[in-house]
Amino acid sequence: MTHRQFASDNYAGICPEAWAALEQANRGHAPGYGDDGWTQEAADQIRNVFETDCEVFFVFNGTAANSLVLASLCRSYHSILCHRSAHLETDECGAPEFFSNGTKVLLLPGEQGKIDCGAIEIMVGRRRDIHYPKPRAVSITQATELGTVYGVEEIETVGELCRRHGLRLHMDGARFANAVASLDVAPSAVTWRAGVDALTFGGAKNGLPMGEAVVFFDRDLAHEFDYRCKQAGQLASKMRFLAAPWVGLLRDGAWLGHAAHANDTAAYLEACVGAIEGVRVLFPRQANAVFLELSPAVAGGLRERGWSFYDFIGTGGCRFMCAWDNTREDVDRLVRDLRELAADDGAGGAEPAVS
Ligand SMILES: *Cc1c(COP(=O)(O)O)cnc(C)c1O
Repeated sequence: MTHRQFASDNYAGICPEAWAALEQANRGHAPGYGDDGWTQEAADQIRNVFETDCEVFFVFNGTAANSLVLASLCRSYHSILCHRSAHLETDECGAPEFFSNGTKVLLLPGEQGKIDCGAIEIMVGRRRDIHYPKPRAVSITQATELGTVYGVEEIETVGELCRRHGLRLHMDGARFANAVASLDVAPSAVTWRAGVDALTFGGAKNGLPMGEAVVFFDRDLAHEFDYRCKQAGQLASKMRFLAAPWVGLLRDGAWLGHAAHANDTAAYLEACVGAIEGVRVLFPRQANAVFLELSPAVAGGLRERGWSFYDFIGTGGCRFMCAWDNTREDVDRLVRDLRELAADDGAGGAEPAVS
């Protein structure tokens, strides 16, 4: 399949910078299990990006990164607080609980995919006895599952709250690049300077073939993390092929360039659909996703015309995700179809147009 979609940034291929680095890494032999120059350089690049001497590990995917980090922050009788739409709750098949030997995930409400800080206080304060799973970590997603972005001050507020209550703060940054590009701030400002202890730094959705980096800003928390990775089947024997694409992506700032492009494409999509009657944008578009409320006829019509996208039953919306390689021409084709289908839908009078 060559036709570019808006289904997921996972649908996209490998960006040229990562591809070139892979090709270079494929010349000759190098030591296995991370004892190679590429892995060293990729970790150094990440320390450079965050302007601090953090501890870095490379794993195959986000589920492993999130689960193994949370397992190192918690013991089995602890609890992890996250938004009810958090990927680690809804899309990781219980892996955070599994790898932490039973740590309980407690769900928090919050508008537009962001944790409501008052709810953290309530969750922590409502029970302090031995019968309740002791709150130990908070996990926030940046950018969120609903395509919104926590601002610097919002993260600082969560960070402050965590410090006050003795909680560790994890950030699921599957789309961290999109968030940083959207905010136009130093990566350190939305992580360790704001109180984040550990980050899942997403690579796959930013143009890597696969792989996420686990970044511990508090190095003590990384104690024996290498053993966790190995036991979980996340220690790549040919680590240089996980690491080299990171070098290509981070060198010369390609990671932010690709993310900014994806965000811009989403902004363009948002602007184009704004004028279509019967189509409503559901959440403020702040990164690379646009959520639309579409009638079943319009959504079905798009699928018939060959478009793939996710719909979120819980929120009643359809998600259009822009990847690093989606273009404005892709958007124009989608919008043309949307406009035609929405006009037919409106003319048929099956659904009243949403104002
Ligand atoms: C894609 C994604 C992940 C990673 O998922 P894997 O399929 O395990 O790599 C984690 N968190 C969020 C918010 C995501 O969107």
